[in-house]
Amino acid sequence: MKKQIIKAISLIAVLALSISFALPLGDMSVKAAEKKVKLNKKKITLTTGDWKKLKLKNGDFAIDDIEWSTSDKAVAKVSRKGWVVALVKGECTIKAKVKATGKTYKCKVTVNAPDISKRVIDPEKPIIALTFDDGPGPNTSGLLETLKTYGATATFFMCYSNGSGFRVYSDVVREVYNAGCEVANHTQNHPQLTKCSASKIDDEVNGNADKLAELVGKGQRFLLRPPYGAFNDTVKQIANVPLIIWSVDSLDWKYKTQSNCTELIMKEVKAQAKDGGIILMHDIHKTSCEAVKTVLPWLIQQGYQVCSVSEMFEARGVELENGVSYTKCITAAEYKANK
Ligand SMILES: [Zn+2]
Repeated sequence: MKKQIIKAISLIAVLALSISFALPLGDMSVKAAEKKVKLNKKKITLTTGDWKKLKLKNGDFAIDDIEWSTSDKAVAKVSRKGWVVALVKGECTIKAKVKATGKTYKCKVTVNAPDISKRVIDPEKPIIALTFDDGPGPNTSGLLETLKTYGATATFFMCYSNGSGFRVYSDVVREVYNAGCEVANHTQNHPQLTKCSASKIDDEVNGNADKLAELVGKGQRFLLRPPYGAFNDTVKQIANVPLIIWSVDSLDWKYKTQSNCTELIMKEVKAQAKDGGIILMHDIHKTSCEAVKTVLPWLIQQGYQVCSVSEMFEARGVELENGVSYTKCITAAEYKANK
């Protein structure tokens, strides 16, 4: 009887021991395996427009095993394969959640805007020029801030008189120039130049250029965008600078009263944007400046380097000739073929 009791006790003890060993052992091995899994980066610093691949190490994961997410999709987005794209200056956290275990792995992302003065535009990658007409105005400074946070520049075709112009906003003209953006000519009073006499064209175009030069420095050439894109040989001759038209008409002036203005502008941009293109917008409309906050991250996500007209042509090695009109620049493929 005693023996049986001892046997039973020892059996229970062995069982208890093996259970107590087996459990923590099993648990520990799972934990150990989980511990080994980690993101290839815990912290990354990117510049707007950069792409970086994150991946989980030490695990055999298929694409669908992981759920990627961002804490702020305005700052950086992440694809379902773990590609992170930096959109605007700021900070966010990218998370990779393993669906099977529910465990989450984090990477802190810091996005910086590039120093515009040191930015190098790569001619072999997509480029698009952003242009704003009819300013300067009350929204222009805010727009410059937006451009800065996205590390982008633009060309501003400005009028001396239209919307008060630089009679009132002379400081804003300097601000545009100092922000590394391009100051350009849109005539003094915004007339249709093809309906003007030669002397009127001269006054409207060259008079406006003189006033711009007084504000941002003499001896420079100001690109001309004729109002309504209307020009003829007389205009070309008298202006004697490159005439810049556009290839992407955002129709922002038309949509400005619509409640879904940004959405309508985006639809135009998405349909027309191409490498080497020139986008037309108007900084006198508040709604247009607001839409830029959606247009820019989309362009950057598509891989575009967003800059002024002169920067785009210079990067692609295309000389802007006086008295010639341009609606777009050459593409990266054409640039490579010309090399
Ligand atoms: Zn205009």
